[in-house]
Amino acid sequence: MTETLLKVSHLFKKFSDHDSYYALKGINFDLLKGECLGIIGENGSGKSTLSRIITLLETPTQGDVCFQGFSILDYNKKAKRAYYKDVQMIFQNPYASFNPLKTFGYSLKNVYHNQGYPSQKAESAALQLLERVRLDASFMKRYPHQVSGGQCQRVAIARGLAASPKLLICDEITSDLDMITKTSIVELVGELQKAYDLTVLFISHDIGLVKYLCDRILVLKNGEILEEGSVQKVFKNPQHPYTQQLIDYGL
Ligand code: ADP
Ligand code: MG
Repeated sequence: MTETLLKVSHLFKKFSDHDSYYALKGINFDLLKGECLGIIGENGSGKSTLSRIITLLETPTQGDVCFQGFSILDYNKKAKRAYYKDVQMIFQNPYASFNPLKTFGYSLKNVYHNQGYPSQKAESAALQLLERVRLDASFMKRYPHQVSGGQCQRVAIARGLAASPKLLICDEITSDLDMITKTSIVELVGELQKAYDLTVLFISHDIGLVKYLCDRILVLKNGEILEEGSVQKVFKNPQHPYTQQLIDYGL
């Protein structure tokens, strides 16, 4: 039987006590171990709110998120530390997630140092990772402002992998990139998913990329899941007119 890695139950999020607006309105889904689940939805549909709750950057107003059978909302300090390693998030703007005053080599090695690697071993592990995301050794010495958006996103992915995560959350990671670079980054994520046996939550507003990469898809609108199913099924026979619209317009 396929194991559930992450279970999201009845998730509601309201940012303010003063108004009745809910960014998430009762989200339920299971993320199975080893699968790539796509979440598609237009701007403001609640995609980032959902990923921020899963990564403990926000707390839900109601509902629960269970990782490997335990509620992340009940985690103590130690469990949180382990979770921050097991679940890595890659963001839309990779530049903002690096310290501009540190080289990529420093940032990558730092992840290994935090795991207790000695200097030499951290250096070679960082180099290996760069190679894995198809960047050469010169990137060890470069600063964030010295690389392109696609290259910076590759380093961000490498840094995510350095923590040996079980779950990789990609929140609009290709949205700032041109078409060719987008495709190569998505191909890379697919390749790494297989190589590292990762579970991936791939959040995007680009239905073409989700179709290419994901096994299953959730369609989110105004904080609600409108449709859910295998990519094959949803694209062949969308049940909701909104999904049909997304497919027609290639949103
Ligand atoms: P998406 O990532 O799909 O574009 P978001 O999750 O960022 O959507 O936002 C969903 C809704 O929640 C939007 O209406 C947004 O304005 C609102 N929202 C997100 N973060 C906050 C916040 N910190 N405070 C108030 N409203 C927020
Ligand atoms: Mg977002």
